[in-house]
Amino acid sequence: MTLVGVLGGGQLGRMLALAGLPLGLRFRFLDPSPRPTAAALGEHVQAAYDDPDALARFVDGLDVVTFEFERVPVETVEWLANHVPVRPGARSLRVCGDRVVEKRFARLIGAPTAPFAEVDDLASLERAVREVGTPAILKTRRDGYDGKGQMRVHEPAAAEAAWRSLGSCPCVLEGFVPFTRELAVLAVRDLKGEVRTWPLVETRHADGILVSAVAPAPRVDEALQAQAQRLAERVTRELDHVGVIAIECFEHEGRLLINEIAPRVHNSGHWTIEGAVTSQFENHLRAVLGLPLGPTGVKGYCGLANVLGQAPERARVLALPGAHLHLYDKPAQPRRKVGHVTVTAPAPELVEERLRELAGVLGPECGARVPAAVGTPGASH
Ligand code: AMP
Repeated sequence: MTLVGVLGGGQLGRMLALAGLPLGLRFRFLDPSPRPTAAALGEHVQAAYDDPDALARFVDGLDVVTFEFERVPVETVEWLANHVPVRPGARSLRVCGDRVVEKRFARLIGAPTAPFAEVDDLASLERAVREVGTPAILKTRRDGYDGKGQMRVHEPAAAEAAWRSLGSCPCVLEGFVPFTRELAVLAVRDLKGEVRTWPLVETRHADGILVSAVAPAPRVDEALQAQAQRLAERVTRELDHVGVIAIECFEHEGRLLINEIAPRVHNSGHWTIEGAVTSQFENHLRAVLGLPLGPTGVKGYCGLANVLGQAPERARVLALPGAHLHLYDKPAQPRRKVGHVTVTAPAPELVEERLRELAGVLGPECGARVPAAVGTPGASH
């Protein structure tokens, strides 16, 4: 029996297990919370990520370790790597866990990003505003997600207050990109270095949170998809990454600018469960275990809406044609992702129609926020 250790026991860990159980895999999760949602599907070691006794218990008997979020201490991964293969490795974590390091990395490999400058104190903040200009977005270097840890800076005079409200911690100031839309590149790299990319997915955000996505993204020509494949190959090769990676991009003037790299399975890839020949979760497990990768082609057209705040009425969602409900068994809380719904359809126009219908049943918090397609009335970012 193959035992997979996962750092983190949230919904991504849960969906990894849902994909891995049919492959005959077993799971053990390390997570400090008393009842993480993935614990329903495997063993749970409840401890801090840097607790040495717990790490020794966690690693005992494991075949491989992977992670479902990038805020794991790098030292933990390095310690574990002395006992068992950890995939992806510490380099992916180190680069993708810090927005400045990540952007420097992108620059180094020739991948375009928004203009940016590092902020450590008031003097560097002033310099950054001069260099990058406004409007801009100030983001904490570490630990920001779902729109947390970032503030818009509309004019230079507002920069200091924004920095203070983020706790005066190390930040990056990014120039505001007037993008056409947001697209994510989802890819998987195996132990031999083969990279497979799913078709680009269009992601739609509100208040920094992903609320819906459409795959394959409409209006993607061969050149853009080829740029996505090259980007995925370059990024994963330079990180020596093994497993799934999500590169969140802005489409700007016909090309992809990297916004953020997640060295793991990702919300923008949840549609692959029903919409692709092999899901991101299964291919991640195949990659980290040295198994052959599965095809990344699509089965049709897909839309995805996140369920934020609280679970909708199950029967109303399931009554919608082509709807697949995924609830994470997490307590209701404003803005929290507690589930997602995928709608499948034989034609792209039908996906948009089904997403609109879905928005009507998802309840006030997320239903009203499922943004329409770019270029249609009511579109928002
Ligand atoms: P992030 O946490 O970096 O993924 O940012 C969350 C969302 O904020 C993105 O998905 C964009 O919608 C928006 N955003 C972030 N950075 C920028 C930028 N430099 N220019 C324009 N919009 C941005």
